[in-house]
Amino acid sequence: MSKVVKGSFELMKKLNVEAILKVIKNNGSLSRADIAKLTGLTPASVTNITKILIESDYLIERGIGESSGGRPPIILEINIKARYIIGVSIGVGSIDVVLTDLGAEIVAKKSIYIDESNVSEEYVFANLVNLINEVVEISEIDRNKIVGIGVAMHGVVNPTLGISQYAPYYNWENVNVKSVLEEKFEYPVFLDNDVRAIALGESLFGAAKRIDNFVAINISNGIGAGIIIDNKPYYGVDYSAGEIGHMVVEQDGALCNCGNYGCLESVASNRSVERKVIRSIKQGAKTLLTNEVEDIEKISIRDISIAASKGDELSITVLKETARYIGVGISGLVNILNPKLIVLVGEIFEQDKIMIKTLSEVVKKRGLKISSENVKILKSDLGENAAVIGAATLVIQEVFKGREFM
Ligand SMILES: [Zn+2]
Repeated sequence: MSKVVKGSFELMKKLNVEAILKVIKNNGSLSRADIAKLTGLTPASVTNITKILIESDYLIERGIGESSGGRPPIILEINIKARYIIGVSIGVGSIDVVLTDLGAEIVAKKSIYIDESNVSEEYVFANLVNLINEVVEISEIDRNKIVGIGVAMHGVVNPTLGISQYAPYYNWENVNVKSVLEEKFEYPVFLDNDVRAIALGESLFGAAKRIDNFVAINISNGIGAGIIIDNKPYYGVDYSAGEIGHMVVEQDGALCNCGNYGCLESVASNRSVERKVIRSIKQGAKTLLTNEVEDIEKISIRDISIAASKGDELSITVLKETARYIGVGISGLVNILNPKLIVLVGEIFEQDKIMIKTLSEVVKKRGLKISSENVKILKSDLGENAAVIGAATLVIQEVFKGREFM
């Protein structure tokens, strides 16, 4: 058999595997006859491919379906425990590692803090490798069942080459994360920018399931957006689409890290919100926070959120002000992209009632009528695990595309 023919045979098998896994995933469980009907494959190919998938543990035969007269059919289901994935988030100040199953259910998780003074590649990778090994160990999952490592990386990322092009917190430029990790582990590595990975995670496992056009907005110390158009991430020419943190929301506003003034990030990042609260307290504002925290310099976004939930006026005022700026940013996105949904990720959205109500009002007021009236705005379902689940999703989507069968 020539190479070309063999290649096209493998590709055909991969495409058939992808088609079959997709219809079963979308429907929960199906009989072979239903699979043939829904995929358009011949009953013989369905029998063939499902046999391979059962042998490799991806599918399980479960129970008996309803008979349409003859012998009742056997129902096939995806076995989400068939394979496992390592999900890594390399974020600002911390690295998180999880092990998940094919349904993105977390089996084990560990995190470490990375101080700004110690961000060399050597140090970070040495710690990351240890962390991955520890997570695999505590999970007690057979290493042979792990199929890949997904990495959600802060900063600008080239997902095709697996390179971190620019990671401001780590002061990295053009670091080949994929090749470093592939040297240390026997698994393939998939890398993307953290917010795009989050968007992917939300689309497969979170608030954006079955939604083809949406934007995930992640607010931490930086602010970014993962844009999904027609069910595909939008990267931009230089992989830097979605930098809404540097959308100007306040003319003559504060100086931003990027050198401009009045960027969304300079007024709505966690750090800028914390600083605003600390400044108000120093200027004499009354707040529950002075009783709740020992050192006001260390007030965190979480403290502010908790105080707001207890009715603290200063915290509520600052959160609402921040929500209005975020609303300005979102209304710009909504006007340009006309998405169906905006998913909000980040601790600042813990008090989602205050935040979503306020920012939605701004979006409705400032956005164009049709797009802003129809857009839904929701808090993430994945919460603090959004980035690691997004990272795992980078691998899970490859598995469901039949990558292992090439
Ligand atoms: Zn900026």
